Amino acid sequence: MIRFSLVCDNGHEFDSWFASNESYEFQIGADLVACPHCNSVKVGKAVMAPAVVARKDRSKPVAAAKQSVALVSDAGGELQRLARELHEKIVASTVDVGENFPDEARRIHDGEAPERAIRGQASLEEARALIDDGVAILPVPILPEKLG
Ligand SMILES: [Zn+2]
Repeated sequence: MIRFSLVCDNGHEFDSWFASNESYEFQIGADLVACPHCNSVKVGKAVMAPAVVARKDRSKPVAAAKQSVALVSDAGGELQRLARELHEKIVASTVDVGENFPDEARRIHDGEAPERAIRGQASLEEARALIDDGVAILPVPILPEKLG
């Protein structure tokens, strides 16, 4: 799907989705696209909106499925040291609730459990759902030696 920003002859701007550029040309040519504000079919492209999403799931931006990762040169081991330090700090200042983390984090957020710092395991989906619900959570840095 391609999103085009369109503008009608009365200056109304609106977005519309098309299967392809050909589909857009055809629908515009056949007066099948009407301005949602004034029903004018004299519409054309305003500026191309740089958004192309997979057909499967239009409700969520594709980028949301990705996590930030970094490929870094860490010759001196400085980043590993910082990651370990942060890891230890998190471990020292939180209570491990294990796999109950998603439920417990939500209960604390909702005021149903006493407020305290916890850590535990959550799947990517669970973590995303918590963030979507406004629960502030942080990823615990993975220690390089735990990856092997
Ligand atoms: Zn209009």
